[in-house]
Amino acid sequence: NNEQAAAKAAAVNADSGAPTIFDKIINKEIPSSIVYEDEKVLAFRDISPQAPVHVLVIPKFRDGLTELGKVDARHGEILGQLLYAAKIVAEKEGISDGFRVVINSGASACQSVYHLHLHVLGGRQMNWPPG
Ligand code: C5P
Repeated sequence: NNEQAAAKAAAVNADSGAPTIFDKIINKEIPSSIVYEDEKVLAFRDISPQAPVHVLVIPKFRDGLTELGKVDARHGEILGQLLYAAKIVAEKEGISDGFRVVINSGASACQSVYHLHLHVLGGRQMNWPPG
């Protein structure tokens, strides 16, 4: 459909390594609904939620973390922190008993923002396989 085509087009054009809209969210230059924040991690509600709970978990310092397919060994610690933050978000949102964590990596996966992010989705029955 049209929405999927637009998502694909956005994904193909997005991987420039340039600053992204998430920098503005981190710097509070544009408003967001923050669910969890610590020194290294920020979690905020997705502007276009695909489930009753849809939160993005991102590193505050991108430091080469554009997409999962390009991380290296030095990112191990922050990757663990992001996953742990996803668990905290699920608890805070009351979906600990069932939720999904998604990382779209690269254009074929329809990644559209090249600042690594985990989608935390829940609050409804999630289906498998994903699209
Ligand atoms: O995995 P992908 O890169 O496609 O996800 C990017 C996500 O960022 C989308 O779900 C989109 O709705 C969200 N977004 C947002 N606020 C923005 C721009 C994008 O929540 N200002």
